[in-house]
Amino acid sequence: LKNGNGVAIPTTTIDFEDIGGQSVAKKELQEALDFLLYSDQMKVLGIRPLKGILLSGPTGTGKTLLAKAAAKYTNSAFLSVSGSEFVEMYAGVGAERVRGLFRRAREMVRKEKKKSAIIFIDEMDILGAKRGSNVSHHEYDQTLNQLLVEMDGLKADQGVHILVMAATNRPDALDAAILRPGRFDRQVKVDLPDKEGRVAILKIHTKNKPLAQNVNLEEIAHETFGFSGAHLESVTNEAAIFALREKASEITEHHLHEAVEKVMLGEKLDRKPTA
Ligand code: ATP
Repeated sequence: LKNGNGVAIPTTTIDFEDIGGQSVAKKELQEALDFLLYSDQMKVLGIRPLKGILLSGPTGTGKTLLAKAAAKYTNSAFLSVSGSEFVEMYAGVGAERVRGLFRRAREMVRKEKKKSAIIFIDEMDILGAKRGSNVSHHEYDQTLNQLLVEMDGLKADQGVHILVMAATNRPDALDAAILRPGRFDRQVKVDLPDKEGRVAILKIHTKNKPLAQNVNLEEIAHETFGFSGAHLESVTNEAAIFALREKASEITEHHLHEAVEKVMLGEKLDRKPTA
């Protein structure tokens, strides 16, 4: 559904426990989300509602997973859209799509009898590039303006709370207006996992796979420095495919090592020349 209306996922099934590592990001995010969960108390204290959270970090590190977990944690309706879906050559189309997105979020809250909705915008740098920069052009600027208008207009006092979560791997490319207080004023960094994080991610993705007794995931984590969560998921999947090819009933250390190499090699082949 690539039309800027967003993909609606009524109930996401991702929990924070399904996300390996990222303990700082998870903690910061949960703290921010408590604003939404306890919005009545916040109102009493005159704290302004939380409108936007920006998740920034390399690709495949779990930003989308975090947004889904946020929706489950806060029992919010969840609407997901990519910044690239707003790219249109006709003036006004992008801005109208943004309006439609917020309309849809409100509708979902009503239909699902929830109190809140989370709109997740992936690839925020496409929609939110610095206005007047090379990447940006007039049409994007209008679209971004509309997003800011919608966010500025969000009020929690109608009993419906809409939170925008955006993800980017290029936070430096974003227009400064996005980060102003009352907009995306919470930023959560989602970095590549450290060794402990990689062990946790490998555990999550081998939970439902038959692993040989002697497999040492610490060792695999040691070998996979620089891998993202998405790479590690790929390693466990490739290892299972190697096992299948050998008609083995279990995934062994050997399968995992081969899979690590395959993913590393694939990464190299896919990498585009930068110069
Ligand atoms: P992008 O910037 O490319 O949109 P992303 O940061 O949003 O990437 P996700 O879409 O959340 O990344 O992750 C892709 C897949 O990688 C997930 O569906 C999951 O299988 C795996 N993955 C990534 N990070 C983690 C993690 N921390 N724990 C468990 N699995 C992970």
